[in-house]
Amino acid sequence: MFKKQRGKAGNAGRYAKSGKFVFFFGRGKAEGDRTLRDLLGGKGANLAEMTNAGLPVPPGFTISTAACRLYYEEGRKVSSKVDAQMADQLRKLEKVTGASFGSMKNPLLVSVRSGAKFSMPGMMDTILNLGLNDDTVEALKARTSNGRFARDSYRRFIQMFGNVVLEIGKEEFEHELEAVKHARGVTEDPQLDEEALREVVERYKRVVATRTGKPFPQDPLTQLRLSRDAVFRSWQNPRAREYRRIYGIPDDIGTAVNVQMMVFGNTGDRSGTGVGFTRNPATGAKEFYGEFLINAQGEDVVAGIRTPRPIAELETVMPKAFKQLRQITTRLEKHYRDVQDFEFTIEDEQLYMLQTRSGKRTGYAAVVIATDLVAERLVKPVDAVKMVDPEALSQLLAPIFDPKDWQKLPVATRGLPASPGAASGQVVFTADHAVEWSRAGKRVMLVRKETVPDDIHGMFVAQGILTATGGMTSHAAVVGRQMGKPSVVGAGALRIDDRTKTLAIGDHRLKEGDWLSFDGLTGEVKMGQVATRPSEILQVVNGELKAKKSDIFGRFNQLLSWADKVRRMGIRANADQPDQAEIAYGFGARGIGLCRTEHMFFGEGRIAIVQEMILADNETDRRAALDKLLPLQRDDFYGVFKAMHGSPVTIRTIDPPLHEFLPKREDLMVEIARMEATGGTVGLDEKRKLLARVEQLHEFNPMLGHRGVRLGITYPEITEMQTRAIMEAACQLTKKGGKAVPEIMIPLVGDLRELRDQKAVVVRVAEEVLKEYKVKVKYLVGTMIEVPRGAVTADEIAKEADFFSFGTNDLTQLTYGFSRDDIGKFLGAYQDRGILERDPFASLDVSGVGELVAMGTQKGRATRPDLKIGVCGEHGGDPSSIHFFEKTGFDYVSCSPYRVPVARLAAAQAALQEHALD
Ligand code: PEP
Ligand code: MG
Repeated sequence: MFKKQRGKAGNAGRYAKSGKFVFFFGRGKAEGDRTLRDLLGGKGANLAEMTNAGLPVPPGFTISTAACRLYYEEGRKVSSKVDAQMADQLRKLEKVTGASFGSMKNPLLVSVRSGAKFSMPGMMDTILNLGLNDDTVEALKARTSNGRFARDSYRRFIQMFGNVVLEIGKEEFEHELEAVKHARGVTEDPQLDEEALREVVERYKRVVATRTGKPFPQDPLTQLRLSRDAVFRSWQNPRAREYRRIYGIPDDIGTAVNVQMMVFGNTGDRSGTGVGFTRNPATGAKEFYGEFLINAQGEDVVAGIRTPRPIAELETVMPKAFKQLRQITTRLEKHYRDVQDFEFTIEDEQLYMLQTRSGKRTGYAAVVIATDLVAERLVKPVDAVKMVDPEALSQLLAPIFDPKDWQKLPVATRGLPASPGAASGQVVFTADHAVEWSRAGKRVMLVRKETVPDDIHGMFVAQGILTATGGMTSHAAVVGRQMGKPSVVGAGALRIDDRTKTLAIGDHRLKEGDWLSFDGLTGEVKMGQVATRPSEILQVVNGELKAKKSDIFGRFNQLLSWADKVRRMGIRANADQPDQAEIAYGFGARGIGLCRTEHMFFGEGRIAIVQEMILADNETDRRAALDKLLPLQRDDFYGVFKAMHGSPVTIRTIDPPLHEFLPKREDLMVEIARMEATGGTVGLDEKRKLLARVEQLHEFNPMLGHRGVRLGITYPEITEMQTRAIMEAACQLTKKGGKAVPEIMIPLVGDLRELRDQKAVVVRVAEEVLKEYKVKVKYLVGTMIEVPRGAVTADEIAKEADFFSFGTNDLTQLTYGFSRDDIGKFLGAYQDRGILERDPFASLDVSGVGELVAMGTQKGRATRPDLKIGVCGEHGGDPSSIHFFEKTGFDYVSCSPYRVPVARLAAAQAALQEHALD
């Protein structure tokens, strides 16, 4: 049985000091075990663990990730120490196997495979059949009495070695293979006999000689050294780097190299090879899942040249090996307490395990498996909380494509995956058309260069939102996530012509009404229609499906309730409307962390009043317009308070520049010119007046202009109206027996005096309202910390603030100096060059922006130890940022309603990690 694990730090630390770079495994004993993943990589650690457990693993050794790091430190050179240790371990391998390199009696053949700490399937290189040369190929023939097999193995080896190590294009080998097939009048590889393969080998060797100027290396040790170096090199190949970038795997950890005795699945009909999972990785169902091929090597399964057979059929073909495989994999699952993804080879009915690792799975399967493992008492609830990737939950909420239908279409272009979910609809280019078409029963895809606040009605009815510009915190991205609407932004290849209502992607031109589809989880955009299905969980939260009728909802809820037990931080939602607040509550948010009041200005019939307020050139007119807005805002606030059932609701006073609410200057100019040219006079004067005011309000840098607290300071009557609306709503609900906990928040504060100015207005009006209503409502007045100066002077600002909410969107924008709406133009180049690993608007830049956040927290609490601190930037829904907020001692995170489950789980994992609870 499996041995007990030794202490992790003990092992790793011991080996780091000893300078040991090469670790042996074989004959029931290994020098490493599963705790050494950092050093041996996932594959190496698991091979060692399986060997120690007495499982049939071909013996070999692992060259550690430390050796790889040293290789790069020394300018892509293998240290003599590593070389010497490898030679020692090779001798040991020869002893254990009774085979040796270059032997004519029993030649040792090995595989050489990469294996990093985190699995990176197919990203790096593998070489099989190493050790074959012109002599040993004859020995292999003699040993197996199969000349065709021996030649075929040699041919595969030269091809792989030529491609991976000598970097000769695959097609050059394919070309020779095809030539021989053609000459022999055959079409399939298996039709080539020994003689034909001998010719292929000769041709391959000629390719190598011509392309490298040297003969194919015959010495097995040289072959091994060159292959090892090629695997180290492959750590930095473009596809491996891209994979690491996507999955956030560090670039400097390096890969290990596993050298292992070859076993052959292609010696005849009593041999085979396959891969499998202990449970279904797509659905999570408890079923043995996988496929195999008779008389084949591993690469044949992956390459898709032959169609593999379902693993259940192995039972009839080779019942003994099948039974053993079932026993071993069941044991492995129990040992690792997780689904295993395994590889095996059967050589002459003898089973060998080549790999086992934790199986990758869909979000759906992750939840099913975690809850099943608890039910089967294999893991505890707290382990289930640790094992599900929080992002898996967001996959469960999004509409989905049938993967088969989706794969049928080619990818037309890609954008940033701003909000997950499958979307398919007919292209429209304006929000008004989106509404018009959807009223006519059509499913539309809103395609815009960028979205602006008054596109909101079109965004609401669209299946998905696709923009050509903008980053992860652009308007389309933020609002898309808040609505739970699939969105892809910054798809730079889109050429949108609003005038002709056409869209070009490369050479293809789409017109309004053509179908377009995208996956908001990956950012892939395709031309054409693909059917989608709504998420079952969302149907339950919306009240369209009974919770009891949904198995997956029950599991989802169960997992989150376990998470809630260990979570320390509170979870709130960013929501502006009562319906969004209700959904957020349904997902488990207990509080609103940000209600952006200006988003309410775009409801039915409001924009005209807002424009009236902005256009007013004196206070009396402005107050008249504000009086009309007051009851509308009050009703919204009432609804939000009610939806939160007594949890706190943070409402922010108006933030964006006022001109965002007015028509575009260029549009007005065109309209006026047209009216003048055609002699139209009706409404001309109003249009001219509007244009004059729009020009007056024009700013060169609106993001740094007249917005946030600056608006409240110049127009205190707006703050007055909003405070009154908030407090009246709270009083009305209280009078009706409900409970409201308003937290009034001032945005963009960088100086204590700004907050002091606005707080005075808020407190004055709030007290007035409380007196008028004669009820008691506790309210707080706080501020956003989103300007670097606000963080730096947080000790001062805290004198006037009951709470801080970090606005990490603006804080990132102002710290980096990257415009949140324009980063899409250069982010890709930054990531390609390794300047940025992740989008700082999606995942907090801990070392820069994070320092300001930590400083603001520490300074704020130095003044006021009980200062309530949260975050309402988009980072509040990002698992790795949530870890940082936990560490920094935040009270809560706030995110879009549909991210609430992700945040609940991520906050629980962060608490477990930070406080080592279990
Ligand atoms: C922020 O800046 O982080 C924030 C939440 O405010 P907004 O996105 O509305 O600017
Ligand atoms: Mg902001």
